[in-house]
Parts: sequence; structure tokens; C-alpha cells
Amino acid sequence: MADDPLVHDLTFSNVKGETFTLSPPLYLGSLAELGRIGERIEEAGGRISRGEALSLVREIYRIVDRVGESVADHMSCRAGCAACCRMMVAVTRGEGEILRERIDREPEGLRKERWKEGLLSRTESLLSLKGSADPSRPLTTLPDMLATCEAYEKKGLFCPFLGEDRLCEIYEDRPLMCRICWTLTDPRDCDPGEGPPVKFRNGVFFRAFDLLILLGKAGFDDARHRPIPLWLTLA
Ligand code: SF4
Ligand code: SF4
Repeated sequence: MADDPLVHDLTFSNVKGETFTLSPPLYLGSLAELGRIGERIEEAGGRISRGEALSLVREIYRIVDRVGESVADHMSCRAGCAACCRMMVAVTRGEGEILRERIDREPEGLRKERWKEGLLSRTESLLSLKGSADPSRPLTTLPDMLATCEAYEKKGLFCPFLGEDRLCEIYEDRPLMCRICWTLTDPRDCDPGEGPPVKFRNGVFFRAFDLLILLGKAGFDDARHRPIPLWLTLA
């Protein structure tokens, strides 16, 4: 069993010195479920309705959450540990629509106002980034994405959806990047200027990332990947 290359690839170590393995049946079952979503898009000739696209985005969230939660006890991440909520979270069109619907559902009041003001000010900050860090470009390549992330994180701005109690106020609707941000190393590595933290990565998370871009194209004819504030404040 220990010599099985799949088990080897699914075995990780954490800051507490623990070694653990992501369940191979869970991993393979999750990949198969994601594969069926890819087949559905293909069968539909690459075009599906907005409603189906949003429902499939939520299905992808459910699949990645099940994988992450299966190893959560081995991760450094805990409620209220929110240094990561300073990162630039880039999302696809379907995810942006889910966030827009979440804001629309929020009753009028101080919290909604704070979100809207926060989104506007983060958009200004993002648009002040220049050159290879300019987030108004599509961010379809990893170097572009990393350049923007690095420049934005230096600004030290928390996500507008982070509450004063350091909990995510839109937890059920948070994007993929926030769902796969699990850290194996010391939480202090996530502070700006420290680290970098070692992340728990696996094929399910990577496949989910690719599928969400496909769903943006299939459901909205929009394959862009943009920071949250840009989706919610610009066309
Ligand atoms: S990613 Fe880092 S900062 Fe965020 S919850 Fe996990 S350990 Fe804490
Ligand atoms: S959406 Fe929630 S989890 Fe993601 S960065 Fe914002 S506050 Fe943090």
C-alpha cells in the first residue's frame, strides 16, 4: 500500500509533524464527479443556461469542501485565523454572479453599506496597480495572477466580506480560492512578509479550478478570471 504511487501522491506532512493520507476512494470519487460535470458541458456543446452554470458551480464547491473537510483536523486553519483574507481573491464569472446574488439578498443596512464601500475602495486600490500587476487584464496566466497577488497583498487590505470578529460574512457563498486555501505550515507563515505557507494541494482542487473557468464560458460566454471587487463594481 505504501508503495502505491497514488497513496504516495496523496500523503502530506504538517507543522505538527503529522503525516496523513487523503483517502484514495474519496479523491478518485471526487475526480469522477468533476469529470461528469466536464462531460455535461461537452455534451451541451459548450453552452448551458445561467441557472445550470450556477448550480454546477455550487456542486463543485460541495465536492472540494468534502475533500478539504476530510483532512481539516490536520490543517493549521481555524475560524478567526484570517491573515489569508488579505490576499487578492480572483474568481470566475459564475462565482462573481453568486457573490452578486449574495449581496442582493442582504437586507439594506450597515453591513451591506460596508460591503459596498469596501468593494469600491478595493477596486480603486486594484486599479492603481500597474504593468504586469494590472488586474483589469484577464489574469489567465499564472505569472500575471502572481504578479497581481503580490502587488495587492503589499497593500495589506482585508477582504470587504471579513467581519470585525475575523469571520467570513459570506461563508456559504465564498469562492473556490477561499475553499482551497488550506495551510499545512505555521499560520504565521500567512502573514505578509513571512512564509510562504505550504498549501494542501491535490488534483481535485486543480480540476475544480479549470472547470470553473469552463463554466464561465459555457454559462455566460465569459472566461475571465478577475478579483472579486472588479466583478462587483465594474461591468
Ligand atoms: S490560510 Fe493561513 S491565515 Fe488563513 S486560516 Fe489557514 S492558516 Fe490561517
Ligand atoms: S470571501 Fe470570506 S474567506 Fe474569502 S477572502 Fe473574503 S472574507 Fe476571507
